[in-house]
Amino acid sequence: MKTNPPTPPGNELWKLYYEERLPRYTSYPTAPHFTPAVSQRTYGEWLAAIPASVKASLYLHIPFCRSMCWYCGCHTTVAQRDPPILDYIAVLRREIDMVAGKLAQPLSVRHVHFGGGTPTILDPRDFADLVARLRERFSIEPDAEIAVEIDPRTLTPAMIAALGEAGVNRASLGVQSFDPAVQRAINRVQSMEQTANAVAGLRAAGIRHINFDLIYGLPHQTVESCLATVAECLALRPDRFAVFGYAHVPTFKKHQRKIAEADLPDGAARHAQTEAIARALVAAGYRRIGLDHFALPEDELVQAQANGNLHRNFQGYTTDASDVLIGFGASAIGQLPQGYVQNEPIILRYAERIRDGELATAKGYPLTAEDRLRAELIERIMCDMQVDVARIRRRHHAAPEMLAASMQRLQALADDGVIDLEGNVVRMSERSRFLVRTVASAFDAYLGNTARTFSRAV
Ligand code: SF4
Repeated sequence: MKTNPPTPPGNELWKLYYEERLPRYTSYPTAPHFTPAVSQRTYGEWLAAIPASVKASLYLHIPFCRSMCWYCGCHTTVAQRDPPILDYIAVLRREIDMVAGKLAQPLSVRHVHFGGGTPTILDPRDFADLVARLRERFSIEPDAEIAVEIDPRTLTPAMIAALGEAGVNRASLGVQSFDPAVQRAINRVQSMEQTANAVAGLRAAGIRHINFDLIYGLPHQTVESCLATVAECLALRPDRFAVFGYAHVPTFKKHQRKIAEADLPDGAARHAQTEAIARALVAAGYRRIGLDHFALPEDELVQAQANGNLHRNFQGYTTDASDVLIGFGASAIGQLPQGYVQNEPIILRYAERIRDGELATAKGYPLTAEDRLRAELIERIMCDMQVDVARIRRRHHAAPEMLAASMQRLQALADDGVIDLEGNVVRMSERSRFLVRTVASAFDAYLGNTARTFSRAV
């Protein structure tokens, strides 16, 4: 019988913070704090005020999949037939035109990301047409990154060709686990061969940058099965890995009820799995990036981390330093200099709003000066594993009292051995880096009654 070994001796920190439910801090404030106070009118005004000089990123959400994975935490819906997808694409095109029409001038774009859901569920001609529409409406820079999330189980040769011809240069493949028992328990049966064929096809089509997503903490998962998955993945040598902990929140994601809680690894096992995966990837030559990413030494994420230019956005760690992120599609989140906006998450309502000729904004958040200070502190600790609190506070012209409660929390973390606190400089060690969300939460002024919706810190 497969077992999870005990937590490595000397590293008992997980026990202190195991029960904490914390945001992933891909934004600050986090999405549960968005309110309807930001309306479509506000968003229109924010768009019109974007200066010509800014660099922008675009995110397009495709909320359809052919089947549901029981662990899924994304905004998606199962579509076994194509008509709803075709309707959605027509609406998406209209939204692109509408948003572009509200800008004072076409924005220069450095990053485009197609996420979901399953973007590659689209008809290849529709995908090509969408990219062409973006190129018409925005000024996409010649060396811009165009990234697409891919489900290797349904990727077709025609779609691979369309991705290559459209200029896609980064593909993120969902792998999660190759263990058949785990795959059955999460309703995602995906062979190594399917994944290898997808990688070979994408590389042959000129898509050089390949990312793999892995998950630990899934039902029946063990350290041995995690390591076996890593070994199979390494044979394909992707440029990057993102390694996420499964977030079991069946109250909010009803399909997760199909996962028996008794089959889930406990906190000690989750910690052993994530650390084992990290050690295996580092031993194979990957560099650890932030909390949960790994990249080959020549990857630009490694350079960005070394130069202090690493960033964090809704997709995780990134080199994307754009001032503006425009989100298209149901549930898509945008980040403008003035704050966050999120579209209607329900596809029908999103489509109705766009067909009525209005922006589909459901809610958002106008950033205050204090939010910007806390957002920067959180981003720096999440990216650099260290932060000079006083230096950033002074740059934001904030009084020390504003961060008094944060400094108290940091002192408690220092007393527990999670961080080194030297004056106002916070440093995390390799041993404690898995608790970086706990440290980031010291700067979070909003953490409170929404904590139950987040995932475990470990
Ligand atoms: S393919 Fe991805 S988005 Fe679709 S159900 Fe599975 S995990 Fe969710």
